[in-house]
Amino acid sequence: MTATIIDGKAVAAALRATVASRVAGLAFQPGLTVVLVGDDPASRVYVRSKDRAATQVGIAARTIHLPADTAQADLLAQIAALNADPTVDGILVQMPLPRQISTQAVLDAIDPAKDVDGLTPISVGRLMAARPGLEPCTPRGVMHLLAQAGVKIAGARALVLGRSVLVGKPMAALLTNADATVTIAHSRTQDLPAECRRADILIAATGRPEMVRGDWIKPGAAVIDVGINRLADGRLVGDVAYDEALPIAGIITPVPGGVGPMTIACLLENTVTAAIARRG
Ligand code: NDP
Repeated sequence: MTATIIDGKAVAAALRATVASRVAGLAFQPGLTVVLVGDDPASRVYVRSKDRAATQVGIAARTIHLPADTAQADLLAQIAALNADPTVDGILVQMPLPRQISTQAVLDAIDPAKDVDGLTPISVGRLMAARPGLEPCTPRGVMHLLAQAGVKIAGARALVLGRSVLVGKPMAALLTNADATVTIAHSRTQDLPAECRRADILIAATGRPEMVRGDWIKPGAAVIDVGINRLADGRLVGDVAYDEALPIAGIITPVPGGVGPMTIACLLENTVTAAIARRG
C-alpha cells in the first residue's frame, strides 16, 4: 500500500479561487499591509510572495519596508497608523524582527480585528476558548488539508510534534476544538517514536530534517509535514522521512508542495474574513 499524496498546491489554488470570488462579490476592495523590517533574504522572498498572491485575488496589497535599525517606537507608530487606516483590513508584521524590537510589544499593538496572522494575544485567547476569530495561517492550512483529504478528526488520536506559538500550540488547539484527542510532543518528550506510533493524525512541526522515521508511523495514519528544511546539498526536505513514510502512511503531504502553499492562501482567506467582519 502507498499513501495518498495530498497536493497542497492544488488545494491552495482552489482556496485562492474561492477567496478571489468572495473578493469579487464585495462592494469594496479589502486591503492587506505587510510590514517588513530589515533585509533578511528569506523574509523578503516571503513578503514578495504574499504581496503577489494578494494582488492576484483582488486584494489591495501594500508592503511597507523599514530599515533594519528602525526603533521600536517608530514601528509601533507605524502600526498605530495602520490600525487607524479604514482601508487597511489586515496587518502582518513579518517575523523575525531585529533584536532592538520586542515581538511581544509589536503583537500587542496590532488591532485584533486586523490580525490576519492570528498571533495577537486576543486571537490566541479566542482560539483557546473556541470562539470565532482569526486563526494562525499555517495550522489553519493544515485543517483545510485534513478536511480536503476526508480525514475524520472527531475521536481520532492526534499527535502534534512541536509546541511553538506559531504552529504547534495553535495546531493542537484547532484539533482539540475539532474533537480530536490531542497530544503535544516536544524536545523533552520521552519515547517520541512510541508517542508517534499511537497517532491516527501526525503533525510534524519541529524544523528537524527527516526526524520522523517510517517505523514511527502508525499504518494508515494521516501524516502532515509542516517542516521546511534546507539541507547542505540544497535539497528541501520536511520533518518526516518521506520515502520511508510513503508505504506506511494512509495519506501524506510532500515537502515542498504540501503545507507550504496553504499558509499564504489562508492569509488571503483571513484578510477577506477580517474585511467582511469590519466593513460588513
Ligand atoms: P520552532 O523552532 O519555534 O519550534 C520547534 C518545535 O519543535 C519546538 O517546540 C521544539 O521543542 C520541537 N523540537 C525541536 N527539536 C525536537 C526534537 N528533536 N524532538 C522533539 N521535538 C523537537 O519552529 P516553528 O514551530 O516555527 O516551525 C517548525 C517547522 O515548521 C520549521 O521547519 C519551519 O520552517 C516550518 N514552518 C513552515 C511553515 C509553512 O508555511 N509550511 C510556516 C511556519 C513554520 P521545544 O519547545 O522543547 O524546544
